Amino acid sequence: MTAQEQKVRLLTKWRSGGMCEVCAVQRATTFHHRLPEGQGGPWRSANGLHVCGDGTVGCHGWIEHHRARAYERGWLVHSWDDFYAVPALLRLHGGWVYLHWDGKTTTYDRRTSVWAP
Ligand SMILES: [Zn+2]
Repeated sequence: MTAQEQKVRLLTKWRSGGMCEVCAVQRATTFHHRLPEGQGGPWRSANGLHVCGDGTVGCHGWIEHHRARAYERGWLVHSWDDFYAVPALLRLHGGWVYLHWDGKTTTYDRRTSVWAP
């Protein structure tokens, strides 16, 4: 594990408080890349979600098996997207939020923003 990965894992855990950011019900156990590592997705807290489950179960499994809906909700982003500019629908943070480099979030207002899934 690189120092950057370690830092980002810690920051993302701090942001989640150990709860799944998607469902806010289960304990978070895995780091999900919004832009997958295989597509060049870097280790950044804004490119990650702390979620329950893994590749087959829980929210992590749901994302992998419902990719179109996961893109609509900002849980996956395309390689041409800027993950800082694509909000995510995260129950743990009260709805649509932007994720920032420092592990903080800000509310995204769907009525006034130009971005649409
Ligand atoms: Zn979950």
